[in-house]
Order: sequence, then C-alpha cells, then structure tokens
Amino acid sequence: MISQDVVLVRYGEITLKDRWTRQNWERILAGNIAFSLGKAGLEHKVTRGEGRIFIQTPDPRASEIAARVFGVVSTSPARAVAPDLKEICQAAVEMALKAGPATFAIRPRRSGISISSEEIGRVVGDAVRKMTGASVDLEEPELEIFVEARRESAYIFTQVVKGMGGLPLGSQGKMLALVSGGIDSPVAAWMMMKRGCPVSLLHFDSRPYADALQPSLKSAKVLAGWTSGRKIDFIEVPIGRGIEKISSHYPRATCVLCRRLMYWIAAEVMEMEAALGIVTGYSMGQVASQTAENILAEQAAMGMPVFHPLIAMDKAEIMDLARKIGTYEVTEETESCTAVPKKPMTKARRHEILAMEEELGLRDMARSLAKEMKVTRI
Ligand code: ATP
Ligand code: MG
Repeated sequence: MISQDVVLVRYGEITLKDRWTRQNWERILAGNIAFSLGKAGLEHKVTRGEGRIFIQTPDPRASEIAARVFGVVSTSPARAVAPDLKEICQAAVEMALKAGPATFAIRPRRSGISISSEEIGRVVGDAVRKMTGASVDLEEPELEIFVEARRESAYIFTQVVKGMGGLPLGSQGKMLALVSGGIDSPVAAWMMMKRGCPVSLLHFDSRPYADALQPSLKSAKVLAGWTSGRKIDFIEVPIGRGIEKISSHYPRATCVLCRRLMYWIAAEVMEMEAALGIVTGYSMGQVASQTAENILAEQAAMGMPVFHPLIAMDKAEIMDLARKIGTYEVTEETESCTAVPKKPMTKARRHEILAMEEELGLRDMARSLAKEMKVTRI
C-alpha cells in the first residue's frame, strides 16, 4: 500500500472570495503555515489544492501547530492512499485497530470519483466491523472514521482539530494597536491579527503617573508568538510631560484629553509604521471613562480610523480569550494612573474638549512627544 502521512488543513471564508483573492490569500495562508512549521523545527512540505492545504510531514505536532495559524478552520492528521476501496478499507481498518473502539461510524465524502459516498460507507464499514469486531453506531460512535475520497487521493482520518478561524495574517492592512499592560488591549490587538491585520504595538510610558512598561512588553512577546514568524514592532513613547500639562489645566477632563493626546501621537506613529488604523481595548461601559459620550469626544475631528474590537464584549469573555491567547498571565489590572481625578468625566462634551485641546496645543505636543519614540523589534 502506498500511504503517506499528511495533515489536511481546512479554511473557511477564503473559499467565498473571487478567484484572484482566493488564490492570493491561499498563498499567504500556506506561507504562514510553512513559516510556523519551520519555526517549530518541523520537516514539512506544504502544498495547495482543491480548497485545502496539505502538509506532508511525519511529525505529529503539525496538526496542532497549523490549527493555531489565523485563517485555519480545522486540521486533521490523515493517511493518504490511492482513491480505491481496497486501499481505503485497509487504512480505515488500521486506524480502527489502533483506537480499539467498541462502536464506530464511517463518515464518507467524495468528489470527482465514481464511487458513491453510500458505497464507501457500506464497504469500509463492513471491513472495519469484520476486522475489529466493533459495531456500527451512527448516532454516538466512540470512533468516527472520516473518508474523503478525491480523484487524486483518498484521505482517512479520525481527528478534527479546531483552528483559530479568521483570515490569514497579512491579508489585511497593518494596524497600530495601543497596548497598556492591562488585560484588554492585547486581546484587542490579537483580534485584529486574527482578522488578517499585522500589528505594530504602541505603549505610552506614563511615568511618573503609572508604570506598565514591563507587562506591555511581555504581552508584546506573547503576541509575537502568533505571527507565524513575523517580527512585531513594539514602540514606546513617553507621555508623562503631556499628562502633567493636561491635568494641571483641566483636571476633570484629564482622561479624555489624555486619550486625545494618545491618538494624536498614534497618528504620527501610524505614518512611520505605515499602519492604516488604530486599535484599542475599549469595552463599552467597562470603566467610567469608556462611555459613548467620551468615545465621541475623544475621536471627534480626528480623521484616522480607530477600531475597538472588544467594544461589545463582556469582561468575562475578554478574560477567557486572554487566557487562550496567553496574555492573561503576563498582564495585570495595573495600578490605576495617579493622574486620574476622583470624579473623571463620563459625559464629555466634544466642543468643550476640542476647545481645551486647542488651548493646550495638544497636536504640537503630540508631534514633539512622537519624536521621542523608541522602537524594539520583537
Ligand atoms: P486595558 O486592560 O487594555 O488596560 P482598560 O480597561 O484598563 O484597558 P483604559 O486604561 O481606560 O482601559 O484604556 C483603554 C484603552 O486605551 C486600552 O485598552 C489601550 O488600548 C489604550 N491605552 C490606555 N493606556 C495606555 C497606555 N499607557 N499605552 C498604550 N495604550 C493605552
Ligand atoms: Mg488599563
């Protein structure tokens, strides 16, 4: 029997695209998978065909590694044989013998060949039953044996590893994600990465009012583990001086104005990083400063897109995701910024805020602070 170990990689939304986009994104996805496998030191060959990506590898880790690549819906370590019933039966029996279930089901699919799914199910099922003594249970089997028979090969597998979903990293434009050292912001950056956007990370060093450089840096390192080998720019900009000026003039509006200062600095950094938008970890109403009124005032008359991917998520959901991503352990609910007033403004009025910004010269301040940026490639 000619058989080969292969991992089948399935992807979702990409298949809905027009031909050109599909081919382009498939190529990016295959490249990202190959990169991830190479980084983990796996011997592999990645090929594409008929709505699937195939990984030729003897390494059992390949399926899990590929499942973590954005754009992948699921993976299955499989046995590839000639699309012929005898060969399929032999592979299915081998797998069943290895697993030793009391009950099993064959889940057949076919395309481009004359044997019907029904026939595959019946013939392979009979062979497994005879050779293993297990009985068929189509409702709740202990073992499912999937058979995908195609013109060039048939694939037999028992395992479906759930992937991350999303779009291939690099299929969308780059984002500048603001990371604070808290739980939420790295999750927001990750969500955009999952949707195909490479990211650069920007942290505002707010000393002496707050100090969260270390957790931010650690979260950046975790996020860099999700890039299929791409480096991430981690950028620091000191804003202590800006906060001092804002809080001494307009204490109640400190947070709203500070956010505008951050966005204006981010606008400068965006240019340098060739990013197309800004990302934050806002979640509606999570803290007093994250209100609809404040978001309106903070972004009024800015011009660049600001994305808040967590806006409609609950804290518990964000925390679950942070654990899955691996950033939960390295971030902390950081000591709150000491420049935050006792009663921060929750219903900012944008015209007043714009006038305050004008008077303080926040845009010029942003330009001058942005010049102090420090970039670390992670
Ligand atoms: P997080 O858990 O991300 O810190 P949070 O709920 O504590 O969020 P805020 O501190 O109000 O919320 O910040 C809201 C968002 O603004 C953050 O998610 C982040 O995107 C951005 N941000 C806040 N502080 C900083 C900072 N020092 N550097 C970079 N971005 C920041
Ligand atoms: Mg925070």
